[in-house]
Amino acid sequence: MTVLLGQHGEIVLNPLSAEKLTKHTFLHLPQESCGVLLGTIVAGNIQIEQFIPIRNVAPNPLHSFMFSPDEWVPHALMAKKLVGIVHSHPHSDPTPSSEDLDRLHLYAGLLKVYLICTPHPITSSLIIHAYHILRNVDNGNTRYTLHQAPLTMTQVGI
Ligand SMILES: [Zn+2]
Repeated sequence: MTVLLGQHGEIVLNPLSAEKLTKHTFLHLPQESCGVLLGTIVAGNIQIEQFIPIRNVAPNPLHSFMFSPDEWVPHALMAKKLVGIVHSHPHSDPTPSSEDLDRLHLYAGLLKVYLICTPHPITSSLIIHAYHILRNVDNGNTRYTLHQAPLTMTQVGI
């Protein structure tokens, strides 16, 4: 049995969060960077309103990420506005690695959306992929996977 966690609606990233995420990702190159996404769910659509960086304390930050517990735990405990997490893949496509999938169970119950971003070396822009979280229950074993979903970037208002 496969259950799609969270909402099926549109995933929307506002321009301020996109800009902050882009700056943070480039600032931390060549290491992976990470953070949480706060927002609201309106009529089934996930509105990402805020990106908050979290320190990457992975032993090998060039190729993996691990949230600093001091910074992550308060968000996990006060999960009301938490809608997702994001991390960067400086050296590969913004698709989930086997390690990302192996560690998904640590966060999956709290999240509606999972973003991975890759800095584009020539244009200095960020390629962002959004994923819904799927829960597969097979013979009593629960396993989480990611399913890519469209990401809408709203324009800066006039
Ligand atoms: Zn990854």
